[in-house]
Amino acid sequence: MRAEIISVGTELLLGELTDTNAPFLASQLPLLGIDLYWISQVGDNQVRLVEVLKRAWQRSDLILITGGLGPTEDDLTREAIAELLEEKLKVVPALERELRELFARRRIEMPPTNIKQATLIPSAEVIDNVNGTAPGWWVEKDKRIIIAMPGPPREMQPMWYHQILPRLRQTVTGAIIVSKTFKTFGLTEASVGELVSPLLSSANPTLGVYAKADGIHLRLTAKAQSQRQAEEMIAHGEAKLRSILGEYIWGTDDDTLEAVIGHMLTEKGLSLAVMESYPGGLLAATITSAPGASTYFKGGLVASSDEALRACGIDAKVISDYGSSSAAVAQAMAEAARLHLGTDIGVGIAGVDESNEVEERLVTTIYIGIDDGKDKRAITAHYPPWDRAWVKRRAVTAALFWLRKILATA
Ligand code: AMP
Ligand code: MG
Repeated sequence: MRAEIISVGTELLLGELTDTNAPFLASQLPLLGIDLYWISQVGDNQVRLVEVLKRAWQRSDLILITGGLGPTEDDLTREAIAELLEEKLKVVPALERELRELFARRRIEMPPTNIKQATLIPSAEVIDNVNGTAPGWWVEKDKRIIIAMPGPPREMQPMWYHQILPRLRQTVTGAIIVSKTFKTFGLTEASVGELVSPLLSSANPTLGVYAKADGIHLRLTAKAQSQRQAEEMIAHGEAKLRSILGEYIWGTDDDTLEAVIGHMLTEKGLSLAVMESYPGGLLAATITSAPGASTYFKGGLVASSDEALRACGIDAKVISDYGSSSAAVAQAMAEAARLHLGTDIGVGIAGVDESNEVEERLVTTIYIGIDDGKDKRAITAHYPPWDRAWVKRRAVTAALFWLRKILATA
């Protein structure tokens, strides 16, 4: 079954509204084994909407539309479907009664234009909307299905989960698709691609490689006749991926590095404190994004100047000998955080933007220190002239990834 999604609304074309409905629906279709071929966005204009619908009607079996079901004149999805199918819109008395009752319960008078929401064409059936006034439409004609849903996600998603998904599942007897994402850090996209190249050419399961803020992600997708078969294919692919990428994989699917670390610290009964200059608090903010972080994370210090570093317990001589952005200071920051807050582990991050005299361009050098009471270590990383927010994020990710590695062997 070929599917296509159409998001309706002029706000989308003006850049005022980001289309989240299409990605939501796109993520749902693989679970049904439905192939999605196109996503379109179109404004609130009947001529263009009909044009998009006609094209969809010619090339797709399932057309999913969101938006344009509101009561106002610019909401034209119903009118456009009626025009496409050359059918007449008619007010359905039972629907009108329900709509009037809904307004009566809310103690507001029904604006006359709302009557649109009680109309149907002969090929359409109503899909109840328990969270709003606009019912959806389920249209079946000439072996095609058009499903029109309201634009607001909090109306559309419950309608999808409770009414559309079960019915579509029944309708479609296609293959099942199962996906799993593997998250890596420490390798470039190119080297990941090279390492997994034998798997990249496989047609089923397929493997995709994506660069994300927290590293390189690999998405394995298997298509099969049954859930079990698809899961077996994923397990098989996972074993191969793990044998190739091993230690570089730090998590799967919805895992975050901070949650993975939180889990490890909790399991080992270890506590953590941090001191940071360059990230300006992002390290502490990231760590505390994991649920339950207060049980193992004792606190963080942000030291943005030499005075602050000294006040936080960094030896003035280390600062003057090595510079406030140095491996020695990052190591001293890790140690000071650990000692001052009485934790098992301390992490320090320092960094500096410098112009590289040889290449005459800006580079950022980040120093990460980790002190677990037994060993004091520091690593150095260089970043190209990215924007600062991105470098901070990468520095924090690098620190957490390294901490994970140390915890794994502790
Ligand atoms: P509509 O039914 O087209 O009048 O849309 C009503 C509201 O739903 C809009 O003002 C948005 O807040 C929301 N909405 C509509 N389409 C989308 C979409 N594709 N993604 C996210 N929100 C949407
Ligand atoms: Mg609209």
